[in-house]
Amino acid sequence: MQGEILIAGGGIGGLVTALSLHQAGFSVRIYEAVPSIEPLGVGINLLPHAVRELDELGLREALEAEGVLCRELAYCTKRGQRIWAEPRGLRAGYLWPQISIHRGALQMVLLQAARERIGDERIHLGHRVGHVESDGRGVHVALSDRHGASHDRAEGALLVAADGIHSAVRKQFYPDEGPPRWNGAIMWRGVAEAPPYLDGHTMIMAGHPQLKFVSYPISHRAEKPGHQQINYIAEKRLPVAEEATPEEREDWTRRAQLEDFAPLFEQWRFEWLDVPALIAATDDVWIYPMVDRDPLPRWTHGRATLLGDAAHPMYPIGSNGASQAIVDARVLTGCLLAYPGDPESALARYEDERRPATAKIVTANRGMGPELPMQLVEERAPHGFAHLHDVISHDELNTIAEQYKRLTGFAIEPLNSRPSLADPEHWSRP
Ligand SMILES: Cc1cc2nc3c(=O)[nH]c(=O)nc-3n(C[C@H](O)[C@H](O)[C@H](O)COP(=O)(O)OP(=O)(O)OC[C@H]3O[C@@H](n4cnc5c(N)ncnc54)[C@H](O)[C@@H]3O)c2cc1C
Repeated sequence: MQGEILIAGGGIGGLVTALSLHQAGFSVRIYEAVPSIEPLGVGINLLPHAVRELDELGLREALEAEGVLCRELAYCTKRGQRIWAEPRGLRAGYLWPQISIHRGALQMVLLQAARERIGDERIHLGHRVGHVESDGRGVHVALSDRHGASHDRAEGALLVAADGIHSAVRKQFYPDEGPPRWNGAIMWRGVAEAPPYLDGHTMIMAGHPQLKFVSYPISHRAEKPGHQQINYIAEKRLPVAEEATPEEREDWTRRAQLEDFAPLFEQWRFEWLDVPALIAATDDVWIYPMVDRDPLPRWTHGRATLLGDAAHPMYPIGSNGASQAIVDARVLTGCLLAYPGDPESALARYEDERRPATAKIVTANRGMGPELPMQLVEERAPHGFAHLHDVISHDELNTIAEQYKRLTGFAIEPLNSRPSLADPEHWSRP
C-alpha cells in the first residue's frame, strides 16, 4: 500500500496495532493526545487468544515477567462460599496463558517495543487527532496539542482510530451519539500489597451484581517479602434508570477515598481472603462508572476506521476490553495483507469480521455474561447454603460458562489449532 497508516491513540489498542502493522511490513505513525505516557490504570487481564497474538509479536516473555499467570477463576458468594471455579490459561489446556497484569506495565512493555522497533520519531505524543477527511487516495487529519493549539495536519493512506471510549473520530462519525451509557454500577479500583490468597494465581469474584468484589494478583514484585500486588474492584450498583448518566464524566484517573466504599465490605472476611484488610492496605483508589456504548451500524468511513474502545467499549465483564482491542489489531493486519493495494476492501473485511463479533460481546456483558450464577445463587440462597447443588445444578453452571466462552472466541481447541489472526489466509475471500 502507498503511504503511511496513521494511528490515533497510543493506548493498548493503538500500540498493538502499530506493532502488528509494522511487523507485517507497513509503515505506521502514532498520534497520542497526552504529552507523556505514564503507566496509568490498575489491573487488566489478557486472555489466551490475546496472549497468542502478543506472543507472535515477540512480547510473551516480557509480559509474563511483569504479570501473574492466572490459573483459576472462582465465583463465590458474599460469604466466600464457592459457586463455581474453572481452570484458566495453560491449566485449562490453552497453549497460551491468561496473564493478569497492571495496565500501566502492559502499556510500558508495548511502548518500549514500539520505540525500539518503529522508532521514537514515529510516535508523536501531545498530538490530539481531530477532524478527519478522506478521499479516494487517503486521509487528511487535523492535529492539536492538549490546549487546542493546532499542529500541522497529517496525511496518510489510512487512519485507524484507537482513541478510546471518548474517541474524537467516533464523535465525528456519530455527532449525536452522546455520552457513554451507564448501568448504575460504580467501581472502586485499587492495588494493594498483601500476602497471596489461595494459590497466589487465582482470580475471584464474590457477591452478586448489586455488590461485588473482584480480585486477582497482578505482580509478584512487592516491597514486603512474601507479598504480591493484588488488584481489586469493589463494585456497587445503584438503583437508577437505564438511561442515567454518571454525575461526572468517566475518567480512568479520578481518585476516590477508602471510606467511600470500605464500609460496604466490612463483613466480607472469608477463611481464605480478608477483604477489609486488603482494602485497608491500599494507598490509591480510583473510581469509575460501569459504562459502555451501543454497537454501531458502521465503523469505516472512507479511509478511516475504528478499533478497540473507540469501536466497541464494553462493560469490563469477562476480561475482554484489552483482549478484544488486540484481536482487532491482528485481524486488521491480516485483512490489509489479504488485499494488497486495496485498502477499502481490507477495511470492509475487517469490519465484517469484527463489528458483529464485538457487538455480541457488548450485548452479552449487559446481560451479566459469565457472572449470571452469582445472581442466581444470591436470589435462591441469600443466607448461604449447605450444599451448592441444592441451589444450582452443575449442568446449569456449565451451560452458562460454555455459552460465554463460545461467544467470545474462547474455545480451547479452535484457538490452539488455527493459524495466527494476522495470517492473510483467514481473510481473503474465495
Ligand atoms: C489512563 C487509562 C487507564 C486505564 N485503566 C484501566 C484499568 O485499570 N483497567 C481496565 O480494565 N481498563 C483500563 N483502561 C481502559 C483499557 O485500556 C481499554 O478498555 C482497553 O485496553 C482497550 O484499549 P484502547 O486502546 O481501545 O483504549 P485506551 O487504552 O483507553 O487508549 C486510548 C488512547 O487514546 C488516547 N486518545 C484519546 N483521544 C485521543 C485523540 N483525540 N487523539 C489521539 N489520542 C487520543 C488516550 O490518551 C489513550 O492513550 C484505561 C484506559 C486509560 C486511557
